[in-house]
Amino acid sequence: MKFNPADAIQDLQYFGEFGGVNPSISDSSTYTFLSAKTMFDTFEGNTEGCYLYSRHSSPSNLYLGEALAALEGTETANVTASGMGAITAVIMQLCNTNDHIVSSRTIYGGTYAFMKNFLPKFNISTSFVDTTNLEIVEAAITENTKMIYCETISNPLLEIADIKGLAAIAKKHNIPLVVDNTFSPLTVAPTKLGADIVIHSLTKFINGSSDAVGGVVCGSADFCLSLKDVNDGAGMLLGSTMDSLRAASILKNMRTLHIRIKKHSDNALYLAESFEKDGLKVVYPGLKSHTGHEVIKAQMNEEYGFGGMLTIDVGSIDKANAFMEKMQENNLGYLAVSLGFYKTLFSAPGSSTSSEIPLEEQKEMGLSNGLIRFSIGLDNDIKRTYEMMKTCMKELEILN
Ligand SMILES: *Cc1c(COP(=O)(O)O)cnc(C)c1O
Repeated sequence: MKFNPADAIQDLQYFGEFGGVNPSISDSSTYTFLSAKTMFDTFEGNTEGCYLYSRHSSPSNLYLGEALAALEGTETANVTASGMGAITAVIMQLCNTNDHIVSSRTIYGGTYAFMKNFLPKFNISTSFVDTTNLEIVEAAITENTKMIYCETISNPLLEIADIKGLAAIAKKHNIPLVVDNTFSPLTVAPTKLGADIVIHSLTKFINGSSDAVGGVVCGSADFCLSLKDVNDGAGMLLGSTMDSLRAASILKNMRTLHIRIKKHSDNALYLAESFEKDGLKVVYPGLKSHTGHEVIKAQMNEEYGFGGMLTIDVGSIDKANAFMEKMQENNLGYLAVSLGFYKTLFSAPGSSTSSEIPLEEQKEMGLSNGLIRFSIGLDNDIKRTYEMMKTCMKELEILN
């Protein structure tokens, strides 16, 4: 039977301490031991199921991790205080000084800045390449390469990673394929296609309320345990720990993830098809005109659709700004970064979330300054939204 992540989450069963239908929240930073010997063994990493100190693990974080491991079909998962907390811990765990990373050139601005500006402190270098071209990826691998890094649907250009193809290259060179799946939870399960480690920013679709920051690393039990090692685990030692109260609230929001994703996808597909018919430059993985359409179709769980992210190029930054301001005035969404909210969010990535990328490189990868990134909301009547957006565009002469 085909892996269905929403069913895997549904099949988890939690009980609270007093039989509650929600698991109890562990409101403690430290834990007692009945014997001094058990404390010693726990420090040595020899006792399963014993809690030591909350930076290492806590019941609430483990419950959330279990749901996220079910989402991605991995052995286990470690939650972190943010998406960047997950990304930086994975990279620092896998790379030593003088090592090398092959990364997609279109990735989240923070990840790009970390690889480009921060890792050189440790003499770790990154080749940013077009990961949709597998030959270029393989040619960039050196004997010091410690991972291939990409996003399933890239930010902000919505390029589609050929995860099976990239995984084959990674296997051949005996290095892990690390995939940031923030834009496509449920739609794509990268480890089922051969990826080794999957990362999410929980801040986005998975929590879906724009009220929390969080992240996760989904992977093998060995790798996740190594991140938590008290002696040399990057997760444990860099200290990006999620708070238990947050873990409990994100777990509750995950229960509606499958319903939300389907609605985000349906609404985004409707808008993308309508805008394309109107003659606008739209990029959406669900459109036949998207260069990665066939690639994602071959890798996805179709029932969740192509996700909630789309971009429109309106030609200039001035037009983009005027359009976004007008949409906000008309209550069609918010001029804000981030994604996965019930309202539509829009921003111009060239001057915001991807501004870490130098202008020249932006141009080279096709990031034009009239580009608007949309995270389409859960609008009940998307036809009404479309008509209202069209009116805004006509007033600004983006459409005739
Ligand atoms: C937001 C985002 C991140 C960073 O997550 P934070 O929770 O803000 O630290 C990483 N990758 C992608 C694709 C994102 O959209």
